[in-house]
Amino acid sequence: MSDPSRHVVVTGGGSGVGAAIAECFSQAGFKVSIIGRRKEPLEKMGTKIGAAYAVADVTDRAAVDSALEELCAQNGPITIAIANAGAAVSKPFAAMSQADISNMLDVNVTGVFNIWQACLADMMQENWGRMLAVASTASLKGYPYVSGYCAAKHGVLGLTRAVSLELAKKNITVNAVCPGFVETPMLEASVENIIEKTGMSRQSAEDSLKAGNPMKRFIQPREVADTLLWLASAGAASVNGQAISVNGGEI
Ligand code: NAP
Repeated sequence: MSDPSRHVVVTGGGSGVGAAIAECFSQAGFKVSIIGRRKEPLEKMGTKIGAAYAVADVTDRAAVDSALEELCAQNGPITIAIANAGAAVSKPFAAMSQADISNMLDVNVTGVFNIWQACLADMMQENWGRMLAVASTASLKGYPYVSGYCAAKHGVLGLTRAVSLELAKKNITVNAVCPGFVETPMLEASVENIIEKTGMSRQSAEDSLKAGNPMKRFIQPREVADTLLWLASAGAASVNGQAISVNGGEI
């Protein structure tokens, strides 16, 4: 059972998977807040689903803290923190700079750390919490040309597993979902990149990405959202420190 009195924050809630998560929780009756860097998609989504929003870069802790202050003033203490914001850079390992790997770690790992830790005090106060992350199959296996992204997404699982053990007695669970390729703007950028680098047709580029999924299709954002809704429910109270695959059985 979901408790609609709860306030959930979703980073990257203005587009793609984050927008589907925000919509899914809103439809389930939760108070929803979304965070991202661009105001326009947040405003559009906020109006569509009745969510509060605040502009912040998840890599900037001070910005995250002040966004949460604003959102809590509107919707109350946050007991469900969904770290969804992320980014992927595709480059051969030999061409990666230190800045490239730092950027990957900043947004994909530090961004998760920031939103989770910033919400911890509210969860402790309420004696209940859910820390959730949108990780990836790239948390569970390697893929060529995205070494920084894979390193960072593996890091998200390390964080998940460690923090879950620290908070296990506090009625706060910590879990990650690991989707395969999901049909979002991020995936569209990957398809465009393949077309540009290889000269493949769009169909062949899409098929090459679908090939790893035994179901031979892209995951839909709502499928990821529904899994998170379950993880946030009372029925998932004993699920802790897990990496839940949402990838058709790829891994
Ligand atoms: P997307 O459409 O590009 O969405 C990413 C969201 O994150 C955007 O709303 C973006 O908003 C926000 N964001 C990015 N950097 C941010 C930052 N520094 N601070 C605050 N917000 C930031 O991509 P998506 O596919 O929905 O990705 C969502 C999550 O799913 C990511 O963690 C991604 O790694 C994961 N994932 C995606 C796939 C896939 O195939 N699409 C597969 C597995 C896992 P702003 O640009 O406005 O900040």
